Order: sequence, then C-alpha cells, then structure tokens
Amino acid sequence: METTGIRVRFAPSPTGPLHLGGVRTALYNYLFARKNNGKFILRIEDTDQNRFVPGAEDYIIKSLQWCGLEFDEGVIQGGPYAPYRQSERSDIYKDYIQVLLDKGHAYMAFDTAEELEDARNKLPQSHEQFQYGINTRMQMKNSLSLPADEIRSRIERGDRYVIRILIPENQTVHFHDLIRGEVNVLTDALDDKVLFKSDGLPTYHLANVVDDYLMKITHVIRGEEWLPSAPLHLLLYRFFGWEGSMPQFAHLPLILKPDGNGKLSKRDGDRLGFPVFPMEWNDPGTLEISHGYKEDGYLPDAFINMLALLGWNPGTEQEIFAIDELVSAFSLDRINKSGAKFDPLKARWFNHKYVQLKSDTELYSYLGPILIKNCITADSEYVLKVIALIKERVELLPDLWKNSSLFFRAPEAYDKQVKQKIWQEGTSSLLEEFAAIVSSLKIFDKDNLHSIVEDFIVKKKIKTGKLMNPLRLLVVGSNQGPGMMDIAVMLGKEEFLRRIFNGIKNI
Ligand code: GLU
Repeated sequence: METTGIRVRFAPSPTGPLHLGGVRTALYNYLFARKNNGKFILRIEDTDQNRFVPGAEDYIIKSLQWCGLEFDEGVIQGGPYAPYRQSERSDIYKDYIQVLLDKGHAYMAFDTAEELEDARNKLPQSHEQFQYGINTRMQMKNSLSLPADEIRSRIERGDRYVIRILIPENQTVHFHDLIRGEVNVLTDALDDKVLFKSDGLPTYHLANVVDDYLMKITHVIRGEEWLPSAPLHLLLYRFFGWEGSMPQFAHLPLILKPDGNGKLSKRDGDRLGFPVFPMEWNDPGTLEISHGYKEDGYLPDAFINMLALLGWNPGTEQEIFAIDELVSAFSLDRINKSGAKFDPLKARWFNHKYVQLKSDTELYSYLGPILIKNCITADSEYVLKVIALIKERVELLPDLWKNSSLFFRAPEAYDKQVKQKIWQEGTSSLLEEFAAIVSSLKIFDKDNLHSIVEDFIVKKKIKTGKLMNPLRLLVVGSNQGPGMMDIAVMLGKEEFLRRIFNGIKNI
C-alpha cells in the first residue's frame, strides 16, 4: 500500500522510567501512524546531561517492546534520518543555532548563576515571576546589553555563555491544536528561553524543533504539559522560515488520579497499590524498586486496551479492542479535551477479560514455568483441565497459581480461624463416615458424589454446610476455591480420600 507521508514520533527523554502516561502518548502516536499508513519513529531526547539516568533508555525501549508498539525508525531500527539519539546529533544543532544568531533571533547571555539569582531577588515579587525577556533582558549581561568590545573580550577569555531566543514584542502566535482547538498567545507573555547551553548542547526546545523539521514529522502528538512550549516552538519555525512545513500539533489530556484531583503520580500508585510503570523499574540512584504491569501479571494487550480508552473514546459502547481494531477505530478527533481519571479496578477488569480470551493452552505457558519452579510434575492433560476450571477466577496472571496450587499439592496447614468456626466435636467421625461411603463408590463423578452427599445429610439430619465446610477445610486447607464437587472430581477419588484421612489426623 502507498504511504500517506504521515510521520509521527515518540520522543522520550531518558530521565527515568516511562510513566503510563508516556506509554499512552506512544500508543496514540502508534495508532495514528498505523491507521494512516504512516511511520512511527522513536527519537531519544537526551541533551540534558544533568538529568540523564543510566538504564532509562533501555527501559523505555524494552517497555514499548513488551507493549507491542513497534517502531519503523529509531535508535534500534535506524532509518533515513539517523542518528535518532539527540546526543549524537550535536553538530547539527550548532549549525542551526548559528542561523538564529546570524538572523538576530537569538543572542548570547553571559549571566552567571549568581547574577541570575540576584536578578530574581531584586524583584519585589516572588521568584517565579522573574522572566528573562522583553522587560528584563537589557538589565542583564548579554550580547544585546553589553558593548561590542566587552562581548568580544568575554568570548576571547572563554567566559561561559548560553544562547537565548529573542522573543519579539507584541506579536501573536496562533495555531490550531487538533485536540484543543485554536490557541492564541501574545509573545509578551513568553520569556527568552535558553536554546543552547554552555556545555555545547541544545536545550529540548531547539533540538526538538530542528529534529521534527529534519525528520519530516507531520504530526506532533504529545502530553499536555508541552502545550505552554508550543508557542515558542512555533516562533522557532517562523524564525527558521519553516512555517510551511510545520507539523500539526495535538496535545493530549492529562491522566488524573483515581479521585480526579490532579495528575496521576507514582506516589498515588504506591499509596493505592497499583503500578504506574509498564515494567518493574530499579532506580539506580535510590535503589528503590517500583512495580510494573508486566511483573504484576497484566497481559500487554489488556494494558494497551485500557490505556487506549484513557482519554480516547470510540463513540460506541465497545470496550474490548484488539490492537488491529484500535488501529481502525482510532482518530484524533475522538480524544477528549479534559483529563482522564485512572481507574485501577478497570485495569484489572480489562485484564480479567483478556485472560478469559486466552486459550487454556496459552495460559499453560504462564502456569507451566511456575509449576516447574515449585517442583511440581503434572500430566499436561490434568494441568489443562485445572486451568479450564479456575480460569474464570483469574484476574492477574499470578492468580493462576494462587487458584490452582490446591490441585497440585495437598494442604500443609489448615486455616485456624476457619477451623475454630466450623470444627466441632463429632466432626471427625462424621467425615470418617462420609469418607467410607465415598470409598465404596464405583464411579467417582459429580452426579454420584452429589447423590451420596444428599443421602448423607438427610440420613444424618444435618445442614449441607456441616459436612461441606469441614470437608473443604481438609481438602483445600481453607474455605477458598471452586465448587467442592469440581475439586473432588479433579483430584480423583484416591487423592480426595487421602486428603480427608490425612486432614483428620493432622488438624
Ligand atoms: N522529550 C520530551 C518528553 O520527554 C518530548 C516532548 C515532545 O514530544 O515534544 O516528553
């Protein structure tokens, strides 16, 4: 099929693990690219060396691989616009900052950290209100305010300087955001952001715009937190003379805390017991280990399906979407403007649905290694039957083992609280009597078991619970698990009886 020329990029900075909001941004870019037969590109924005975190790039790549979001171009795949890691493109940015200097759209600023701090302190207002820009730049130490000979001598003696954008006065920047609609900003509200640092590397703003242009990006789909930077980016396109090939912008709504009060953070996850990262993250600085969806037992398709609906809606009641269905249903105009509340229970709900869609054999591939780890050898036909029986109770993958272990090993202990509640004088002999009837059964199936239980409780004039509760305690070790008859038939007569007799002895 012919391509439409649509090119989108996911452009994370490797400053830490990928938050689920970041995965959603990558996902929407992916869906948009696939839907339009375009290209999906991974660009690593690593020009801020102070915030570089070892392992973060690798983590981002592996997480997106787990999610099944494959890139067409990027740091691994390469591509026609390589390199895709900004730290390997520093020469390119030097040329472009020179263009801005030559055109008078940028200037050198020599202010030291102390001088900037002084300027902030001199203001009657609080720190936040200091803006290096239209109203203050002439009082600062830069190539606009200093005499030419001082500038020259500062450069000659090797003074460090940054390069700032020269924000023009009294202009409006206007653009149409594909999600937010019209955005109009007066340039007077903008500050002279640093474009190039004294370490010889560009800041995010310059590198991002230059690369989007050079990589022929047609749509910039990114988080709402970048909306305030968009006017600055627009000015850069204008100054470079690239307005004609400027990408279209789509700023995605925030993912909110479950109660809707503010942006979802890692702390919310810790507090409420759900992961905010796709995979487990071992922080190299703090050594803290954070949970991941993968390790907690979520299926990648379920995770992706859940994220897709967190801020986008298909316009129908449909909730379960295979990735191909997402691709064909997706469109930017169905992305909501307002923030999306994250619902951890809904995430589990999706996973439960996806587990139910898996075949027993597929689930075997998750349970098999756990059986091996627990030194359990079992006939595969038996394992498959167990899976079929417990599947409905599996929400997260570890529930497979939690719900099936009773079929592979007899209880080693008996729940004390349950015992206290249900075990009485005469319970042991009642169960022995029942076991004797079971052992005389020729055909050990559900129907026969049902009828001997019925006969037994009528004969003994007891309620069903009086027999079944202690029976379950002996066979399972607790009051949990699927139907008692299902358990009995699955275990087989011999094992069922063995557990009853052992239980009576040990309880
Ligand atoms: N490097 C930025 C980030 O980490 C990219 C923002 C953008 O997509 O323009 O979010």
